[in-house]
Amino acid sequence: MTKPTISIVTPIYNEQECLPNFFKRVIPIMENIGLPFEIIAVNDGSKDKTPQILREQCQKDSRVKAINFSRNFGQQAAFLCGLKNCSGDCAILIDADLQDPPELFSSLIEKWKEGYEVVHGVRKVRKGESFFKKFTSSLFIKLLTKSSGLDIPPNSGEFKLYDRKVIDAICGLPERSRYLRVQVAWVGFRQTSIEFDRDERTAGETKFTLKKMLKTAEAGIVPYSPKVLKLSGKLGVVGCILSLLTFAVFTILAILKTALPLTAWLFPSIALATSIILISNGITDLYVGYLYEDVKARPIYIESEKINFWE
Ligand code: UDP
Ligand code: MG
Repeated sequence: MTKPTISIVTPIYNEQECLPNFFKRVIPIMENIGLPFEIIAVNDGSKDKTPQILREQCQKDSRVKAINFSRNFGQQAAFLCGLKNCSGDCAILIDADLQDPPELFSSLIEKWKEGYEVVHGVRKVRKGESFFKKFTSSLFIKLLTKSSGLDIPPNSGEFKLYDRKVIDAICGLPERSRYLRVQVAWVGFRQTSIEFDRDERTAGETKFTLKKMLKTAEAGIVPYSPKVLKLSGKLGVVGCILSLLTFAVFTILAILKTALPLTAWLFPSIALATSIILISNGITDLYVGYLYEDVKARPIYIESEKINFWE
């Protein structure tokens, strides 16, 4: 078999209703594009007929490759496994429910051919998604951007094209906590976006329960930003300033002989004591933050290109 140029990577959890449609739509699109391709289907511990459907598809078509997880590890783990096992010069990440249209593959590939190493799919419209889903997802990206200090395109999900360099850089990151949207922003390289309208699921229900969404949000924000850790110290400093200001005002009032009950002094005293505790916590957190960066053991830099180096 010829080495694939394009790898399509898809995570699958209980998608028996969507899968037949997925292959029916994706394979002709890829055949039309005319470049050698493979489809890496990662079954994230599905309990329905997903494994059988995948086995049959693999038997019919050697370009389809499936990996089964021993249990449900989550969408992020499935995408990562797909990236680690793909052999294309680039990979396109796409959900199996086809909310992100495979018709856009050719536009993603065009941008890649222009020299971009990451092409983000950015959603203009999101059909069939509740206000709550849209609101929490946009709030989540804002929080991610703010807490990580990285440039994450708003309204983007995992629907993206990664060049081989990006795949290798992301797979090479040593940390155990994984969140692709942040990692791809962190590794850098030349990035661009294309806009599209997000469809409804072709079938079935969303696999992201509120509990899964909260867990994903935590996994995206906490490991990538010691900023959260620094919150208590910052609160302490603000509290300290406010209580000292209150003391100053009370002292002026006392000098001006405005009668203040003795209990009034209790408020700034308690606030000051609490703030001092928060600050000392904050100092410990500073050290934890540095330790944490060390434990992650990320590379200090990633090389994008080497010219005239002969190995
Ligand atoms: N998925 C997965 N593991 C999970 C949950 C979801 O592999 O634990 C897959 C799912 O099969 C789909 C993709 O991740 O291909 C996105 O899931 P879903 O469509 O349910 O999420 P939503 O679009 O509602 O955010
Ligand atoms: Mg979906």
